Amino acid sequence: NRPKIAPQTLKPNFCNQTRNNNNSFARREKIKKQRESLPIASVKERLIQEVKAHDILIIVGETGSGKTTQLPQFLYHAGFCRDGKVIGVTQPRRVAAVTVAKRVAEECGVELGQRVGYSIRFDDKTSNSTRIKYMTDGLLLREALLDPYLSRYSVIIVDEAHERTVHTDVLLGLLKDVQNVRSKSAISHDNIADKKAKNGSLNEKENGTQSISFLKQCPNSQFPPLKLIIMSASLDARGFSEYFGGAKAVHIEGRQYHVDILYTVNPETDYLNAALITIFQIHLEEAPGDILVFLTGQEDIETVERFVHEQLLKLPEANRKLLTVPIFSSLPSEQQMRVFMPAPPGHRKVILATNIAETSVTIPGIKYVIDPGFVKARSYDPVKGMESLVVIPTSKAQALQRSGRAGREGPGKCFRLYPEREFEKLEDSTKPEIKRCNLSNVILQLKALGVDDIIGFDFMEKPSRAAIIKSLEHLFLLGALTDECKLSDPVGHQMARLPLDPIYSKALIVASQFNCLEEMLIAVAMLSVESIFYAPREKSEEWKTAIKCFSSPDGDHLTLINVYRAVDELLEKKRVELSNEKNLKGKSEKILRKWCKENFINGRSLRHARDIHSQIRGHVEQMGLRISSCGDDMLQFRRCLAASFFLNAALKQPEGTYRALSSGQTVQIHPFSVLFKSKPECVVFNELVQTTNKYIRNVTRIDYLWLTELAPHFYANQS
Ligand code: ADP
Ligand code: MG
Repeated sequence: NRPKIAPQTLKPNFCNQTRNNNNSFARREKIKKQRESLPIASVKERLIQEVKAHDILIIVGETGSGKTTQLPQFLYHAGFCRDGKVIGVTQPRRVAAVTVAKRVAEECGVELGQRVGYSIRFDDKTSNSTRIKYMTDGLLLREALLDPYLSRYSVIIVDEAHERTVHTDVLLGLLKDVQNVRSKSAISHDNIADKKAKNGSLNEKENGTQSISFLKQCPNSQFPPLKLIIMSASLDARGFSEYFGGAKAVHIEGRQYHVDILYTVNPETDYLNAALITIFQIHLEEAPGDILVFLTGQEDIETVERFVHEQLLKLPEANRKLLTVPIFSSLPSEQQMRVFMPAPPGHRKVILATNIAETSVTIPGIKYVIDPGFVKARSYDPVKGMESLVVIPTSKAQALQRSGRAGREGPGKCFRLYPEREFEKLEDSTKPEIKRCNLSNVILQLKALGVDDIIGFDFMEKPSRAAIIKSLEHLFLLGALTDECKLSDPVGHQMARLPLDPIYSKALIVASQFNCLEEMLIAVAMLSVESIFYAPREKSEEWKTAIKCFSSPDGDHLTLINVYRAVDELLEKKRVELSNEKNLKGKSEKILRKWCKENFINGRSLRHARDIHSQIRGHVEQMGLRISSCGDDMLQFRRCLAASFFLNAALKQPEGTYRALSSGQTVQIHPFSVLFKSKPECVVFNELVQTTNKYIRNVTRIDYLWLTELAPHFYANQS
């Protein structure tokens, strides 16, 4: 009778952070207890039975009940990954995919990237042994391009479906179809293949679904049916159920303690300042418990973070035990897990989050919520064909979700930074993104999947005809579609392969013809992150001096390239200097951090941009595009910008504002642009931000005549 070995001692890679055995054991026990106490734990068997019994299941449950972390594990142990099949879980947000995968890997006692992994754009932590795979909804759509039947998956869980991102909505339509085809594949695929051989192609009536290109590939193997699970936090499952032909919905009861809601007496004009005051009011007057503040994006978060630190220095030592932790989607993944770590004893944690913390990630320990009542959203004007980012009031449903975060572990308080009468005026729920965004990206992907009839596609909620047509026109102008609205060869196909906005994909292709792909790769990478510069209001003079050494009189694109190159040079110089020293990587990191601080560069954003740069460089190399540099000939590069971004050109008006040429809108150059003062005659831009004014950001000077020369199909008849 040899003593049995406890299973965990066979798994030395349990968790990197906890090498110490005692610690690791205690942590494992704690996690086990936490898991057992989640509301979902008590309905485990029933859920497994429901999934076995239904091919489509809708699961609705309070945020924090354990849906995202637990259900995939239940299904794994119930045998849904037999024959090497994978359980895929989609998330609308990158951060959620990453943090949840890390948590689940730890719960399972496996190394991340083995049984449990994640895959998001520009970052893949999976392997052949991955069986539970968290990913963004956009990424699964991309996978469908390579594997239209999604044949690796036995179960796909569309999580956070209530968020109704444009990718979720398209994915739902696609999955409905894949499931249909897969459940019929055993019976009907020979039959259809026969017909196809006779008729040459299939029309929609014959296969009963959209004319997706799946069947063109006629696989030899037959697929097991696909289990589809739609998970949502909101209480209205009816919409999903109706869309899936009356699919079964199950509800998981959550726990929720009472949350006191407090409103301001008057409207606040500066919500960041109001948030700051409230943070300190709570910190100095309220009982222990962490604070969660909802802000609109990285810029706001970093501003508040700085304010808090400055304010803390003014307080007596004993009152300084307040710790800030940011969380937003482009936060480097090694920093994301910090929100889950408890504050040191005696300290209070204040989490500065985007709406990611509404339902996507559940952070333990929160007792106070501060809700300024705003969210950053995409907005699209189909008539003008212009997409912009706007900060808008939240919906009632969002406000309720936010306040609910304070009552997960005990009674809490929510401070809404607006008067009570304003709450009544809020919309009930948020409009699905598909109804308020430019659809070019989605249409390009659907076309690449073989869905030709976009208007006829089975959307849960149809985007307006005008928006579809405008986006088709947009793609046509970019050369991605032919006169017959088919994907063009090679440009359209190349564009669909790049994981970028179509206008950026096109810019890379154009740049390879203009011999400046090196420069465009940098520009696109830098444009893909939020705020490379940070411009603290209180240090605006210092900031202006610092940025002078990078700024190009020709515009922001060139300025961004200068910053990127300066970093390259710095790192190269240090690499040579430090070549004999140990821990070169750590030392370079330190040098870079210091340099960023001195130059008012956002180190997080810069690192993210460098990462994206190397990823897209890999993509264009694979595609065989010619990567060369125009050297010092920046005129060539600006001409390339004009040829690429001709849809975003603007002309100066006599009164100093600009007229966007494709939409006719009146816009202004953003104060952070290097061209804010010089105001050249004609510019191209990459972003439209709407606050009190419509601002264009990332702006470069061009010559108006280049537009008629380089984009004659659009400008020849305009003047
Ligand atoms: P749901 O999907 O129903 O909103 P989750 O499965 O995301 O719930 O979360 C279940 C529990 O796991 C929550 O109590 C949450 O605090 C905890 N949790 C999730 N991710 C982490 C993490 N990375 N670290 C610590 N706890 C976590
Ligand atoms: Mg969840």
